[in-house]
Amino acid sequence: MNTTAQAVAPTAPSSAFADPLGMSAAQDRSAVLEELILKNPGHFRVLTGDRPTGRLHLGHYFGTLHNRVRLQNLGVEMYVIIADYQVLTDRDIADNLTEHVEELVLDYLAIGVNPARSTIFTHSAVPALNQLLLPFLSLVSVADLERNPTVKDEIAHSRQSTVSGLMFTYPAHQAADILFCKANLVPVGKDQLPHLELTRTIARRFNDRYSAGSAVFPRPDALLSNAPLLLGTDGGKMSKSRGNAITLAADADETARLIKGAKTDSERHIAYDPASRPEVSSLLLLAALCQNRTPEQIASDIGSAGAAALKKTVTEAVNEYLAPIRARRSEYANDRTYLREILREGNERANAVADKTLAEVRAAMNSRY
Ligand code: ATP
Ligand code: MG
Repeated sequence: MNTTAQAVAPTAPSSAFADPLGMSAAQDRSAVLEELILKNPGHFRVLTGDRPTGRLHLGHYFGTLHNRVRLQNLGVEMYVIIADYQVLTDRDIADNLTEHVEELVLDYLAIGVNPARSTIFTHSAVPALNQLLLPFLSLVSVADLERNPTVKDEIAHSRQSTVSGLMFTYPAHQAADILFCKANLVPVGKDQLPHLELTRTIARRFNDRYSAGSAVFPRPDALLSNAPLLLGTDGGKMSKSRGNAITLAADADETARLIKGAKTDSERHIAYDPASRPEVSSLLLLAALCQNRTPEQIASDIGSAGAAALKKTVTEAVNEYLAPIRARRSEYANDRTYLREILREGNERANAVADKTLAEVRAAMNSRY
């Protein structure tokens, strides 16, 4: 794999991105991107990642993980960041960090991320990446940071007594995560769209201010899946840290128990109507994704059999779909040394790329001494 910063894919055309924060514009754009990827996977470089705050769940899987593996297998170059600094955005201490980091690597291996083809690395181990934060912060206004709807939602769910500076600034940090390797494609869930827009703004402003004529950074695109916002058992966004998730690592019984307790509504007839019946529709979508069918087909099978029948269908679909992933996960779990080796190698590759990009940035800013 070529990991040099020079081997950068051109920025994908972005004229379709008229309504940057809107879901429907992002979905239309994703459809265009899918065609471009199929035609020329070598023109894309992906940055994607997760916070080590717990085990990965079905929201991750159908929101982004499935896309990551698909892209990797199509031949797209991929960097997967374990965003350990970002754990501190909404809590004072990063509890059980080492364990969470290893569990993420396990989840990646289980779903099919191949460390020989994709670079898995940790945020804190790549100092040059983190140095990009300072010039990037100088390119955003306080108003840019304050208006971010995802940050507002996360503040509402934060475990901190006061909102830290890191909470407001982490979307700029995320721009550094994406741009350090000049990624032009980011497979994400809906919550990340405002962050992606800020990254595009930072890339444009950096290029305008410091490198007129020859762009240092591409303007990356978000790639949404068919499930950009899977709901958790409480009806809110399924999240690692909100106690509402069905994890990839859960066993079949725990999965059944969690789905049994999921919020639905009182209507007995089951129908797919995301706008007015979000919880029932999210469950239908989940079963549909597992069985490669449409949510409407699943709904018509269930008809008026009610929420209990829906939950039974979803449980069976999820457990069947996840069985091989869970089996692979248990196998890898026995070899912690291998997990560490993956991170060591990934950090080495990421550092080489980050050093090169930082050197370009310093040259563009006239700060090479
Ligand atoms: P936390 O609660 O600790 O923030 P999280 O569950 O929100 O954890 P992240 O690590 O913040 O997970 O997100 C990782 C990636 O997974 C992002 O691209 C995000 O958009 C996607 N994602 C997370 N939750 C969902 C969901 N419920 N549906 C679709 N995509 C999701
Ligand atoms: Mg999150």
